[in-house]
Amino acid sequence: MSPLASIPPTLIARARADQVATLYAHGHFTTVSMGLGALILCVVMWSEIAATTMLLFGALIALNQLWRAALVRAFERTGPGIAAAPRWGGYWAIGSALAGSLWGAAAVAMFPASPAYQSLLIVCLFGAALGGLNLTAVYRPSFYGFVLPALVPLIVRVAFVGDQVHWFIAGVMSVVLAFVVGFGHRLNDVLTRSLVIRYENVDLIGELKDRTRIALDARAAAEAANRAKSQLLAAASHDLRQPLHALGLYVAALAARARDAEWRPLVGHVESAANALEIQFAQLIDLSRLDAGALTPERGDVALGELFARIRNEFAPQAAARGVSLTIVPTRIVVDSDPALLERIVGNLVGNGIRYTSRGGVLLGARRCGTHVAIDVVDTGIGIAPAHRERIFEEFYRVRNDAGPAQPRHGMGLGLAIVRRFADLLEHEVVVESREGAGSRFRVRVPRATRADPRTHRRRATLPRFEQNGPPSCSGRVVAVVDDDAATLDAMHTLFETWGATVVSGEAIEPLIAAIGELERYPDLIVADLRLANHRSGIDAVRQLRHELGIAIPAIIVSGDTGMGADIEARAAALMLLPKPVVAATLHATAIALMAQRPLAMLTQ
Ligand code: ADP
Repeated sequence: MSPLASIPPTLIARARADQVATLYAHGHFTTVSMGLGALILCVVMWSEIAATTMLLFGALIALNQLWRAALVRAFERTGPGIAAAPRWGGYWAIGSALAGSLWGAAAVAMFPASPAYQSLLIVCLFGAALGGLNLTAVYRPSFYGFVLPALVPLIVRVAFVGDQVHWFIAGVMSVVLAFVVGFGHRLNDVLTRSLVIRYENVDLIGELKDRTRIALDARAAAEAANRAKSQLLAAASHDLRQPLHALGLYVAALAARARDAEWRPLVGHVESAANALEIQFAQLIDLSRLDAGALTPERGDVALGELFARIRNEFAPQAAARGVSLTIVPTRIVVDSDPALLERIVGNLVGNGIRYTSRGGVLLGARRCGTHVAIDVVDTGIGIAPAHRERIFEEFYRVRNDAGPAQPRHGMGLGLAIVRRFADLLEHEVVVESREGAGSRFRVRVPRATRADPRTHRRRATLPRFEQNGPPSCSGRVVAVVDDDAATLDAMHTLFETWGATVVSGEAIEPLIAAIGELERYPDLIVADLRLANHRSGIDAVRQLRHELGIAIPAIIVSGDTGMGADIEARAAALMLLPKPVVAATLHATAIALMAQRPLAMLTQ
């Protein structure tokens, strides 16, 4: 079988076209070598052969090369493609066959009587055939067309002498001819094969380039989509923050005032819908902060006992409302993590446990495993099918489930995505084990703390609990509120009044000072928005108010900034910063704690 049999015909055709082009590219070289060869033969045979025979031979060779030169020019002008290549190869092969026939005829016509000249003639012809082998073998028809008509007549003529020596020489010449033909044939195979390999490589490189381009395009599209998502999230969280903040304050005021039994369930529904909205909004904020790279974990020692207690405070009412038990195993373990991020992780897992359990309960516990601590959230809920176990950590992925009314419908599919991304940020491993219909166990592996002093999430740990139904807790107090957003200002005003405070408020510091002047009493607390109109800062407003009144009034700054800048700014001014949307309970507890501080000190400035 031919070694080229496995190569697709299209590639062979391409190789043949290139081979024909190579012949034409070396056309002038062929003309020169033909002329030189004819000259050498004539010089060698000068004394033996009639001049007319030699002149005729030279003229015919020149004539053949002349039309071949014209052929080369036409080929260069036309630049034929793959389809026309065999035709042009045929033209060239005709020229080669004519040249070979002229050499063969010359060998017969000039065959000398002297054995020495016979040897010279044989050497000349075989030399010409062998010398041009590397070029003639490029294209087979042209190769055979030249070699066979040039050498076969000479061999026959030598044998025709008839004696033993000439028979022997003819035999040797036949063997050499067979060798030349075989070698030329194989050489052509090798050349064809190497061309095909080159094409395959070129095609592969082309394909690789295409694939790389497609992959790069896909990556650019994914990055653009991700950027668009981040921008949408950032814009949405920015635009939603203010009304949600006001809504939360109004709902808290409403809940505190609705004492009528008829209204309480309705207000309860409004409150829980607003809470759900706040949770989902907090998730969007988390996501946009993660996407913006604005979250830098602040690692430290975290006492799990305190963190678990806060989780209990936050989720016990929700668990009770759904009729599931929430068991928190007391612990004294201290871990190395970011307290706020770890609390969000555990909170999301416990929240999910409660939401996806309708019978039984949820257990939160921790145990030491060598250098690490395993924090387990175990529930007896609906469980997760194996097919979903990895996908539930993707953004906006929710398991479609027809478990009936027990299955809550209001999640966005972000809780676990945030768990995974916070955990990645902290290098904590999160694993899930689950059995459908039996429950799930989410485990977070956290390194144990090396030092003994637990760094707690102090702000929230030290806050007193919000008692909504108790007596007005701020009665007798004066609270000054400054906010350039009319709705928020009104909501804050209403809420503090609901809590029993006398409220003075203004959209800027100047009207606020005027209102305080009319009241003829110093405020016990200032609540200021961080960003006020005309690029004024709430922190500067507090400083100015304190300066004007001459006393260091406790103050809360409310900020909608998602970056760390606001936090740093407020901390530098020793002010309490609450992020928007502010949870009413947190605002209430912070206000009470700040107002309970020692009476106001005189400023020295
Ligand atoms: P969602 O807001 O939908 O709860 P999550 O990202 O928190 O979003 O969870 C993704 C999905 O994983 C949920 O829709 C739910 O189907 C499934 N899931 C999460 N936690 C649990 C659990 N403890 N038990 C059963 N299914 C769960």
